[in-house]
Amino acid sequence: MRLATVEQGGRTKVVLVEPENDSYYPLEAALGEPVPDMLSVILRIDELRTSIERTRGTPIAGARLLAPIPRPPRNVICVGKNYHEHAQEFTRSGFDSSAKTPADAIPKAPIIFTKAPECVIGDGADIRYPCGASNCLDYEAELAVVIGRPGRSISKSAAYDHIFGYTIVNDVTARDLQERHKQWFLGKSLDTFCPMGPWLVTADEVDPEDLSVKCWVNGELRQNANTRDLIFDIPTLIETISAGMTLLPGDVIATGTPAGVGIGFKPPRFLRPGDQVTIEIEGLGRLSNSIA
Ligand code: MG
Repeated sequence: MRLATVEQGGRTKVVLVEPENDSYYPLEAALGEPVPDMLSVILRIDELRTSIERTRGTPIAGARLLAPIPRPPRNVICVGKNYHEHAQEFTRSGFDSSAKTPADAIPKAPIIFTKAPECVIGDGADIRYPCGASNCLDYEAELAVVIGRPGRSISKSAAYDHIFGYTIVNDVTARDLQERHKQWFLGKSLDTFCPMGPWLVTADEVDPEDLSVKCWVNGELRQNANTRDLIFDIPTLIETISAGMTLLPGDVIATGTPAGVGIGFKPPRFLRPGDQVTIEIEGLGRLSNSIA
């Protein structure tokens, strides 16, 4: 199922999307009450699967897509340097405060950081250029995992049982802040720095270990990789993060970006106002945002 959060006529609701029919279907009838947010769908998905009716579709064109989880319940959990080639390009760029030599480029354990939940925006919304705060804006196309079942000390073998679905995240980054402040939180959390969407696809429809990940800037292909090249796979990430911290329904984990980001070029190719970043992940749709 593809589940989207839409705004129509001043109301926000979660709907089932069928892009091939240009339609969406409300969930109220199936669940017997308004469905204002994704968390209520995550908690009642089994009920929904048996009762959803695909009659009376509404044209998608009349609604505004928000991020599938417009305000995650807590920080978006992110993984740094999780593709081999990207880890090398980042360390070579000089912006990596976590490693200075090529020998240190590949992390020995997952690098975990977070983004503030307030910086999430949806497909088509503008990434605001942070005038005065940074002039080194970069894009990062990433597969994101959405947790469905809570858990602590989740083993690798049980990890997939805790995943509700998948979406796309653009882990927009201010490289100068990331480098200057050592901890990455600030450079990753400026307003509008977490485009997410266009919708969420439930786990039963996705093989997350073999998905092509592509990113274009103004139509030029910059990133082109596959999730099978992750250094730390999804079960390892979930086992690591949940070892001492309970994962909760609605938690979002962005799994890292492949090579081809702006700082991978010499000289770096930072985003400028007017640029458009489009990310496509196989089976998950396209996420497109402009810099304003
Ligand atoms: Mg990232």
